[in-house]
Amino acid sequence: MDRSKLIREFESILGPESVLHLDQDLALYEYDGALDRGRPDVVVLPATTEQVVAIVRVAAREKIPFHARGAGTGLSGGAIADQGGIMLAMARMKKISIEADNLRATVQPGVVNYDISIAAAPHGLYFVPDPSSQKACTIGGNVAENSGGPHCLAYGVTTNHVLGLEIVLPDGEIIWTGSAALDAPGYDLTGLIVGSEGTLGIVTQVIVKLTPLSEAVKTLLAVFPSIERASNAVSAVIAAGNIPAAMEMMDHTAISAVEAAKHAGYPTDAGAVLLIDVEGVREGLDGAVAEISAICRAEGAYEIRIPQSAVEREKLWSGRKGAFGAMGRLAPSYYVQDGVVPRSQLPEILRRVGAIAAKYDLRIANVFHAGDGNLHPLILFDDRDEEMTRRTIEAGNEILRACVALGGSITGEHGVGIEKRDLIGLQFSAADLDAMARVKRVFNPRNLLNPCKIFPATKMCIEVSTRRRAAMKKPVGEGGRELSGMIP
Ligand SMILES: Cc1cc2nc3c(=O)[nH]c(=O)nc-3n(C[C@H](O)[C@H](O)[C@H](O)COP(=O)(O)OP(=O)(O)OC[C@H]3O[C@@H](n4cnc5c(N)ncnc54)[C@H](O)[C@@H]3O)c2cc1C
Repeated sequence: MDRSKLIREFESILGPESVLHLDQDLALYEYDGALDRGRPDVVVLPATTEQVVAIVRVAAREKIPFHARGAGTGLSGGAIADQGGIMLAMARMKKISIEADNLRATVQPGVVNYDISIAAAPHGLYFVPDPSSQKACTIGGNVAENSGGPHCLAYGVTTNHVLGLEIVLPDGEIIWTGSAALDAPGYDLTGLIVGSEGTLGIVTQVIVKLTPLSEAVKTLLAVFPSIERASNAVSAVIAAGNIPAAMEMMDHTAISAVEAAKHAGYPTDAGAVLLIDVEGVREGLDGAVAEISAICRAEGAYEIRIPQSAVEREKLWSGRKGAFGAMGRLAPSYYVQDGVVPRSQLPEILRRVGAIAAKYDLRIANVFHAGDGNLHPLILFDDRDEEMTRRTIEAGNEILRACVALGGSITGEHGVGIEKRDLIGLQFSAADLDAMARVKRVFNPRNLLNPCKIFPATKMCIEVSTRRRAAMKKPVGEGGRELSGMIP
């Protein structure tokens, strides 16, 4: 089927305003927050589950690859159409239905994470997982990536806050997993789909748990002379039996960028800071703050700041949540890694990150969910400089190898996507990967849904990508063009 016929069929299903095919429109969908690029042949914006089914049936009939996309804030290339094909942008599926009595909500996948908590707030409730991108990223993307966030240390990540899912399978069949109740019999398919990076089905509704807002919260900022001292404090605080609601670290380079961009109130002479939230019953908080402060001081903190107003606290948190964006103050581009190590290995991995920066002659800022041992080294570079880009990617890979060598993981929350598919073998054996691939074949037997993600790139994936990249460099005509992303 040629591209213009496909566009006409989608226009008849969705209306012309919900089908994008001009080059200038498609260009907006060719990237996410990572480095890879891949332009879809057509973008469709369904508003209902039935429309998703109709699109998927056309894709299956014509054997065209298709991909779901939320806000495109993903950091591993998961929402990139590197094989071309159809992009289902879920932005118009954004209904929220709150059931306060049952502490849950049913939401469509295009709902922005933060909007769930805004809708739940009048009922004294919120949705716990709070990725730093929460004002942009969608719940569909959060489910696909099993996203975490600063406040997941005490309460768990997305998978711990999803009760059930409506899914359109790659042949167009609709299924429900889990249930609205707290437990569901049978296999835990919800657990399987959460974190499957959009490769098993398209999520069209999510039943999420809502959590009562804490009675009170106190924030403290512990200021350290070095990142090593700060990372020793992380283990010491938790080993003493304290699980703060959040425990985030920023090093000197990150603080410099955040202060230049946001004037959030961080001390620019610090080697590193820990931003810590404790939550709970009002009466218990002063004791917890005193205990954590004493541990931080014993580990070398030379100052503890406690914000005196909600505005001051909000400023500190907006600095932390805006830290990635602030990197623009230091370099034209940044490449964020997402390795994990056991918490006790934080000092060692941070030493290694420093050594890798020196080896590749690159500047690396560290901003991360320290309580979870989940690093986010931000490698600063200029993506117009090919040689520097190569060094940046090599440095990123070396950091991940170091994480695995220390007993950790190549991803804590950003997923494998395209970016880390050739590194997944560091962590899993061929038999492990084969077991996962067999599960994928049950749901996605023709590999049309989000192909070439998670698993090491096959010859076909590489060939199609290379062909597309070459084609992209040539001027592309309107309509009539053959679909370049067809997979037989
Ligand atoms: C500044 C910044 C800060 C970030 N901070 C965090 C953080 O603290 N914690 C964290 O975990 N992540 C973080 N991220 C990464 C990113 O925001 C999350 O992975 C987020 O969940 C992606 O959501 P999205 O809507 O942008 O998804 P997209 O990028 O559009 O897609 C991501 C994946 O989800 C799939 N997908 C999307 N919608 C559906 C659907 N309906 N059905 C099936 N699959 C679907 C896509 O196919 C793709 O594989 C950050 C990103 C940025 C840019």
